[in-house]
Formats: sequence, structure tokens, C-alpha cells
Amino acid sequence: MAGLFLLLSSFLSLFACFPGFHFVYADADAGLIQPFQTPINRDLYHSCTDLIEKINSLVHRHPEKLTVETLKSGTEGYNADVTVVTYGQSRKQSDDRFKIRILLGFGQHSRELITPELALQIVSILSEEQFLPGMDLASLNGTLENLVIKLVPLENLNGRKLVEAGELCERRNGRGVDLNRNWGVDWGRKEKYYDPVEEYPGTAPFSEPETQIMREIATSFNPHIWVNVHSGTAALFMPYDHKNSTPDRVSSQRMRVLTEELNKVHCHGRCKTGSGGASVGYLAHGTATDYMYDVVRVPMSFTFEVYAGDKTLDEDCFKMFNPVDQTTFERVLNQWCGILFALFKLGPREIDVRSTIIENSFDQVYNWKDDHL
Ligand SMILES: [Zn+2]
Repeated sequence: MAGLFLLLSSFLSLFACFPGFHFVYADADAGLIQPFQTPINRDLYHSCTDLIEKINSLVHRHPEKLTVETLKSGTEGYNADVTVVTYGQSRKQSDDRFKIRILLGFGQHSRELITPELALQIVSILSEEQFLPGMDLASLNGTLENLVIKLVPLENLNGRKLVEAGELCERRNGRGVDLNRNWGVDWGRKEKYYDPVEEYPGTAPFSEPETQIMREIATSFNPHIWVNVHSGTAALFMPYDHKNSTPDRVSSQRMRVLTEELNKVHCHGRCKTGSGGASVGYLAHGTATDYMYDVVRVPMSFTFEVYAGDKTLDEDCFKMFNPVDQTTFERVLNQWCGILFALFKLGPREIDVRSTIIENSFDQVYNWKDDHL
């Protein structure tokens, strides 16, 4: 039995953060055994309210660099608030025409508490209230002066509240929809999903207010680089999630080169790379990154997975998706801040801003036609 469990666990570890795990073991003598769940370490992790408050006050202390807004949407009595932080935007938008635009999303899956903590750390470094070990300030400022960065620190606030109330394995939003299955590329029938409950994609593409808000941010900001930040494994994924291959556009090769470089320098070669669909062990339909790449035409679209927890522990979700001790917590935050700031430096070198302005406007019209035929 123990052998079978180990075999099953190592098989499941292939499945990273995507679907959920619902296994409760029956014991003939003792009845149903509920698996042990490690509680949230409140000394390390902020509550969602504290996290948003901390980000707001950071922004208010640095109005010359940072701005913050809260976007709201709702359908059928279900409402969502999404906080968006912007770094480096000039008063006159035309002054930013040739800057590289980067959009980062955190906390899409609510049980992955580590990712909003990473967002907070990134904002602290951008404000210069914190510094990344080994990072030279002059070189950092050189990198940042040509960027506009938008961060969504906690996309799935309603789902996160459920996790904080004790539903530690919840990854969906406040009404049971997986926000990383609710987008309009290959949005699917339930039978296509590995776990139709955990991966419930909603009643239609963009049925959820959180996804509507994210799409609005993406289409109005029109980023050059998108990163959807998750946890559950250590990976630097590129499209596609819904098929077992990478795209065949020129940008695909650039994404591959960049992720391999980041893997070598910052992951010691231990992060998974390549397409999410090919590397994770199953296909995911209706994901944000596939939509960003195919429809919003973001030339560099990624999903980063920042922490591989212990998957041999059944339903111990806090521990499966998040570091539980201070040393690991700090190591993960520093490592992934390093990776994201390296991306800010290396990514723009792969992008010709002037040509993407022309290419994007053409592609968007072309793609719109494709979608509506
Ligand atoms: Zn996830």
C-alpha cells in the first residue's frame, strides 16, 4: 500500500499547480482519515487585507514612481476588485510610446500564497525601500528607465479569502471557477479537463469578473511581456498550454532562448522550460498565457512557477504550494525577484519596440478576423 502511495504521489507530482488533488484514504478499522493540513504560517505570510494595505502605502510613499488603482467588475451579484500597481508611467502617455510594457499577474490561484508575497517584494524593490542582494542600483535604474511595469498583486481576492478562512486547497475564485481556465483560447468542454471540478472553466469564456478585468488591463496596456506567476513546481513556461507544442512564430525562438538563459543563471538548470502543455504532463485549456500570446499578441508570454512543494503529502495544500519556513521563504522570494529583474533586463533586448507597434496592430486585426469567422 505504501509503495503504491509513493508511486501515485510521484506520478501526481508531474501535474504541478494545475489541477487539485482530492484523495482521502479509507482505513477499514478507523473509518475515513482526514489528512493533516499544515496551517498558514502567519509570521511569514500577510493576510490579503494587510498585503493590499502594505502595497497601497508603499505606492503612496513613492508617487513619483508608482501609482495604484482598483478595478471593479461584477456579474449576477458576484463582484470582484482587482488592485493594479503601475511603475514608471509618464504623465504624458505619448512619452512612453517607445518604452517596453510589462504586465505581471500574481495570485490567480488562491492557495498559492507565495506569489502575492513576491509581488509585494517586487513593488518594495521598485520603490527602492528594499534592495535585492547583489543588485547594483545604477544598473537597475538603467534597466528600469525604459520600462512601464503593471503588476496585479492579487488577482483572485475572493478565492484568497476562502483560503484564509480555512479552505487551504481552494484554487478557484469565490464562486468555484478556475480563473486560469476561463480565457477565450481553446476554452473547453468539461470532459477535456484533468479534474472537471478543480478546473471548472465557468459557463463561458470570460464569464468571471476577475478575468474580464485582466483582459481589459491587457488589451488597453498592450504589453510586450506578460508573466502569469504561479506555484506548485519550478518552471519557466512559454505557450502553449492547450497543445503539446510551442508556437512557430519568430518570437517563440526568442522566448525559448530567454527562458533557457534564466534557467541556467538563476535556476541552476533545475527549472522546467518549454511549453506548459508539453512539460507539465497534461494539457490546460482556456489559460491566460495562451490568450495573451494568441489574441492580445503579447510577443513574450510566460507562466512562471516559483516553488515546488512536497507533493507526497496528501491534501496538505499550504505545504504543497508554499514555503513554510523562513529560510526557504526568503530564498524563494530572492531567487524569483532575481529572475523577474533579469527578465526586465534581458527581455527588452529581444523586442524591437518600433516593429512590434506595427506588427501588433496588423496582427490584432488579422486575429480578430480569425476569431470571428
Ligand atoms: Zn497555479
